[in-house]
Amino acid sequence: MSTVESQTRYIFVTGGVTSSLGKGIISASLAKLLQARGYTATIQKLDPYINIDPGTLNPYEHGECYVTEDGAETDLDLGHYERFLNTPTSQANNVTTGRIYQSVIEKERRGDYLGETVQVIPHITDEIKHSIQLLGEGNKYDFVITEIGGTVGDIESLPYIEAIRQLRWELGNRCVVVHLTLIPYLSAAKELKTKPTQHSVKTMLEYGVQPDILVCRTEKPLNDSIKSKIALFCNVNAASVIESIDTDSIYKVPLLMRDEKLDIQVLKKTRMSANCLPELDKWEEFIDRLQNPEKTVKIALVGKYVELMDAYKSIIESLIHAGASNKCKVDLKMVHSEHINTRKLKTIFDGISGILVAPGFGERGIEGKITAIEYARKNKIPFLGICLGMQCATIEFARNVLNLKKAHSTEMMPETPHPIIDIMEQQKKITLKGGTMRLGAYDCTLKENTRVFGIYGNKFISERHRHRFEFNNKYLEIFEINGMKASGKNPETDLVEIMELTEHPWFIGVQFHPEYKSTVANPHPLFVNFVKASNEFENGKG
Ligand code: GLN
Repeated sequence: MSTVESQTRYIFVTGGVTSSLGKGIISASLAKLLQARGYTATIQKLDPYINIDPGTLNPYEHGECYVTEDGAETDLDLGHYERFLNTPTSQANNVTTGRIYQSVIEKERRGDYLGETVQVIPHITDEIKHSIQLLGEGNKYDFVITEIGGTVGDIESLPYIEAIRQLRWELGNRCVVVHLTLIPYLSAAKELKTKPTQHSVKTMLEYGVQPDILVCRTEKPLNDSIKSKIALFCNVNAASVIESIDTDSIYKVPLLMRDEKLDIQVLKKTRMSANCLPELDKWEEFIDRLQNPEKTVKIALVGKYVELMDAYKSIIESLIHAGASNKCKVDLKMVHSEHINTRKLKTIFDGISGILVAPGFGERGIEGKITAIEYARKNKIPFLGICLGMQCATIEFARNVLNLKKAHSTEMMPETPHPIIDIMEQQKKITLKGGTMRLGAYDCTLKENTRVFGIYGNKFISERHRHRFEFNNKYLEIFEINGMKASGKNPETDLVEIMELTEHPWFIGVQFHPEYKSTVANPHPLFVNFVKASNEFENGKG
């Protein structure tokens, strides 16, 4: 039998006043602090929309779709969880309303509820509670942190708040509710305002949930009198009013939360020991490297969603990790692939020491990507192509080196005479769009004496995927004869996973997504090496 101390604690993170306050970062930071004290923690995101997962959502709607080891297409916050904790998440770490309803409806059709009227309470709320407690099964984790998407007061998040109310009742002090709110600063009045927070807590109270801890996002420090005022109006003690001040890097938030004692408040309220101190030496070293770069390197990220930083979240974070490893600041230039044409190339890439071509789907902006790759190849600029970026690199090579002028991917041009990139055999019969790509972790074997072999320092690697198309092996021989080599392949299917140019200082295209595996503790070797090569290119420009 498990002792009370060994039972999983459940922490809920809700948001009030506005969205985008950084619930994901607060959740990840809290988990980091608990982990740094020797506790085990996992983080889950509950999203109140009806889509089964964000896989079918346009990046403009929802930012990047993050992919886990087990092939779940998930919310980008899971990327933050992995980058902070350095532990993998899974399908169970991201649940949407669509998935909850799907499961309840399947049970209803199977006859599991025979005789009962199926209702939001208790059936939907039971399903939500089940999804939360699934992660705590067997007391595998000391803490399960559940972030509730959206803002309190939204109609669609009501069942989640109700599930929290019920769980609190059932689990007592094994449950803590952290409510993240905004304390706006009115410059005309030169004052921080607590009223929106009071209203937000009142809304929670209407639903029967009293927040235990308030994390207050603010652009100015909160003084003691403001903290006392919030405490008084919101039924918490002043020590449970935590300031979350704006900062220039998300990676500083765990340190800010440590200073504000968020972890201590959580440990006290869940009756867990707070005797030891969080061990954050490595984390602090990382921040130190991040803050004190010795040089700057300019890298261009070519994609079609460049107005929206969230669309390439994991790539941008991976470059930050790689920059810190190289003690350099990566100055990222976002380049819209639709704006690239041969006349403007020199201006666009002026001063650029590395070109990264992003993943993507569909025709739009494809020619710009291909043109950028030709420029990188000819000017010997370090190049990293990810997924569609790798596919474009092979198309460019086919057109301009192999002289197959109409070479293309059948995704963009089904009738191309040279289908360098073609639909995967297993994908041909698939008609449903959601969750049907080649997803999640697959093995890859690296060829010895290649650049990637040197970079990974290992023959056997595993990386995450999200695609339907592949390099057409019918063309492999002619590619290899002419200097573009498949340096990594899937050992079972022979699918090409990595292409590299032999006559180029650093030109690598990968069919997988290395960005999903870069963490603060383990920056991804491909990104680290790409930034290193870009640095060398920068130095060589003299
Ligand atoms: N659209 C391409 C495919 O499905 C590439 C996908 C991607 O870049 N993630 O194969």
